[in-house]
Amino acid sequence: VSDPAPGSRRAAWALVGAPVWAGPERGIVGNAVAFDSSGRVAAVGREHDVRARAPRGAEVVRLDGGLVVPGFVDAHVHLRACASALLSVDADGVDSVGRLLDLVARAAAGRLPGAWVRVAGFEPRVLGRELMPTRRELDQVAPSCPVGVRHRSLHAWLLNSAGLRVAGLSRPAPLPRGVLVLRDEAGEPTGWVMDHAGGLRARLGTAWPPVALEEAVAEWSRIRLREGLVALADASASNGPDQLAQLAQWRARGLLAQHVAALSAGQAPASTALEVPARKLLPEPGSGPDPAMLLEAWGAGQGVAVHCADLEGLGALLEAVERVPAGCRGPLRIEHASQCPPEWLPRVARCGATVVTHPGFVHAHGDRYLAVERPLPAGWLYRMRSWLVAGVRLAVGSDAPAGPVAPLTAWRTAITRRTRGGQVLGGDESVGPATALAAMTAWAADCSGLGGYGRIAEGGPGAAVLLEGEPLAGVGHGEVRVGMVVAGGTIVPAGP
Ligand SMILES: [Zn+2]
Repeated sequence: VSDPAPGSRRAAWALVGAPVWAGPERGIVGNAVAFDSSGRVAAVGREHDVRARAPRGAEVVRLDGGLVVPGFVDAHVHLRACASALLSVDADGVDSVGRLLDLVARAAAGRLPGAWVRVAGFEPRVLGRELMPTRRELDQVAPSCPVGVRHRSLHAWLLNSAGLRVAGLSRPAPLPRGVLVLRDEAGEPTGWVMDHAGGLRARLGTAWPPVALEEAVAEWSRIRLREGLVALADASASNGPDQLAQLAQWRARGLLAQHVAALSAGQAPASTALEVPARKLLPEPGSGPDPAMLLEAWGAGQGVAVHCADLEGLGALLEAVERVPAGCRGPLRIEHASQCPPEWLPRVARCGATVVTHPGFVHAHGDRYLAVERPLPAGWLYRMRSWLVAGVRLAVGSDAPAGPVAPLTAWRTAITRRTRGGQVLGGDESVGPATALAAMTAWAADCSGLGGYGRIAEGGPGAAVLLEGEPLAGVGHGEVRVGMVVAGGTIVPAGP
């Protein structure tokens, strides 16, 4: 772990006057933390001990209550898609085909012919109704620009005719893995293209000049830093050597303020400037990974992270892992594990897996989950408490842009299980405030190759967040806000 950026020097200083929650193992260790001139934690504990051990001449910043916690870590996020979403037309909350077409028409009016209109965050399932706009409807409002509406899940697109042409999908031809062009009864493309593994990305070309994308990356990163996010794992299944190099370069050039790890597509490159904690496997929906693939990755000393967004997929994953002799298994992350019946909880625990879950989904999508007539109990969805009771390791990720990013939104939802609309989804799955913090700091770091982050410890990265209010009392005891963020051993300037 190499933080802060090489060459940066600053004066030593100390933060005193608020209890310091150093991580799940040590809990509250005192009321002071000192940072040295290289941006690392020089001392943490009781004020007189920290003052005695702080570097000579350290300036003291006195706080008036609150709680100092480790900087937040996001165990599952898609950086490129987040930056892209910032540049796209935002379809969050669109609840009719007419409103979607209005957005597209307005964006297309300002585009040169041939320039992409991209729409992000579109969710066609709205409280029991299904919105299914078509290629022809997009053509009517945007005849001369390619239009790409990305499904909120990131696993499908709606393209207009120009978009299909640019993507080389207007004529039958071999398709990348996981790409499926939906057709009507006449055999014509409807415009909907399933893109399970991100294979369509290259076909769609670049919608933005590289400079615009980089500016969006930097803006996204600054917003997240002010919310307290100091480290993250990019979980994109399309992370080949070029994408990993790009992430490392964004970090090295200071576009990304967060420390970055990444899951890799296929074998991790022999040398990379990023931590690559695991290889991402993306089985087809409803199926599990090939046990031979698990053996190969674990045999090569790599961890494995398996995308698992449905019940059938979890069953198949468990069978595949159980076929690998226990002695040949390695680190396993289960991404999402969206649904799990009670009787499978101990099987997941026996696999030694870490479940990477998204309380933010309960907040943002919970009302829709509850409105959908589903054969499965709501309590099986995005569990937290049951995983821990069964002995499964747990970590929180945002899955942004598929879910909301603000760490405090996820933290509150982990405790309350409340949806955006105020309903409770799976109330038995709520966890306590400190457990929710652990899953968003130390445990997220542990499964992401970001050891050092997620805890406040001497010699560790100087990353911390001051939460104002009484966070350990839970929610409902006054407001909890991010009052200060420390990254790289310095205070992050407040907004905008
Ligand atoms: Zn994801």
